[in-house]
Amino acid sequence: METALPSLLHREKATIEAMVRIYCRYHHGTKIKPCMDCRELIDYAGKRLNLCPFQADKPTCGNCTVHCYKPKMREHIRRVMKFAGPRMIWHHPIMALRHLLDGRRPAPSLRQQQSATPAAGRNKTRKHS
Ligand SMILES: [Zn+2]
Repeated sequence: METALPSLLHREKATIEAMVRIYCRYHHGTKIKPCMDCRELIDYAGKRLNLCPFQADKPTCGNCTVHCYKPKMREHIRRVMKFAGPRMIWHHPIMALRHLLDGRRPAPSLRQQQSATPAAGRNKTRKHS
């Protein structure tokens, strides 16, 4: 396994985990550790992030143009986000703020990715495979 994930992905993982924990605590009555279902969701989200085609250019998942979750997980994470999103500012203010800032970046679509990042100063003729 590679450990050199872009820090944005680390933040996104940490944010998702924190949100799921909040959700689980309120909805499934867990105290410290999330329940099996929620643990599974956290693991699943982590795996999706590892496979995310955007990597460092990744928008926050709520903004993403690629919906990569399978339906069951997507439904679960949507409920989590809806509930825990507004509560993040109380439970994890710094993380929430960062996530908010990350979320302000425009979501690239896979096709536009090359031209959408002029600031990166990359070779524009390079094909993204
Ligand atoms: Zn739970």
